[in-house]
Amino acid sequence: MINTISGSINSSDLGWTLSHEHLVSGMGGMDKIAQLYDRTEALRRSQEALEAAYASGIRTIIDCTPLDLGRQADVFERLADTSPINVIAATGLYRWVPLTYYTWSPDAIAEYFIKDIEIGLESTSVKAGIIKLAWDYEYRLDEGPGSPRFQLEKAARGAARASRATGVPITCHTRALDELGLPLLDIFQDEGLDLRAITIGHSSDSRDMSYLNQLLIRGTTVGLDRFQSNLPEDEKLRRSQIALDLIQSGFGDQICLGHDSAAYSLNLGPTSGGGRAEDSNCWSPVPDWQIPWLIEQGVSNSDIDDVMSRSIAKTFDAASKISR
Ligand SMILES: [Zn+2]
Repeated sequence: MINTISGSINSSDLGWTLSHEHLVSGMGGMDKIAQLYDRTEALRRSQEALEAAYASGIRTIIDCTPLDLGRQADVFERLADTSPINVIAATGLYRWVPLTYYTWSPDAIAEYFIKDIEIGLESTSVKAGIIKLAWDYEYRLDEGPGSPRFQLEKAARGAARASRATGVPITCHTRALDELGLPLLDIFQDEGLDLRAITIGHSSDSRDMSYLNQLLIRGTTVGLDRFQSNLPEDEKLRRSQIALDLIQSGFGDQICLGHDSAAYSLNLGPTSGGGRAEDSNCWSPVPDWQIPWLIEQGVSNSDIDDVMSRSIAKTFDAASKISR
């Protein structure tokens, strides 16, 4: 069973799923700052974007926003009855592990994630269905326990232990150009996880197919999940070509697609109501552009279902099997 904001579902009921999106994104605590955050607007934009995604055939969205990236549990609570599609919320940590965790052990971090999964986010009963991590430039800073790398590695062990305890998969924002999927998989392997339960996201930021193949042969799931509506045409084609090549190499059920787009985001400026221009079609380029393009290149409907549904179902199934 998978936790969604509206209750639990079976992995066979996911339907077409976008693996990496954000309903509302910004920073932890933004909801307390009136000139930064407009809750009514956040709700309206989220609802409209969910409806547009539904109209394009999407049935599930994985929201990859942990608390420190501005997750709003009360927005999930409000959308639970009105969203036309399943929304899977995340616990976890974003790129800059907050100082609060610097003295925590991996087990203490795991315990906090487990609470989000088993009891609910903040004071709500909305349960997280996935654990999100983010490894980026900060990983390069490696000077002992006070450095970001040490903390990111510790967070990954905490995530792995929470995954084993709850049977929930892990999804990772990674800087593909630094090939950060590989050291992450080493930690997960060391912690005894089935790498099938892991999604190494943002991987098509890299042009290096040998890196992607190194991930895939270890059995992990690879997210080709940055396909924003403002991508130039040549970049859309480059990213779609990677998906096509991997499907043709037989990896269709190990890759997943998404946009990394937010219905409401403060990340482009602190104007009231969200800095990012409103775009209720922020989750449509994959179903409306990329899928038809893949079909035009000869990809079968069954292969499309592998990429859009079965690959992600398998991450949930693998995680639940390893759970103690
Ligand atoms: Zn993201």
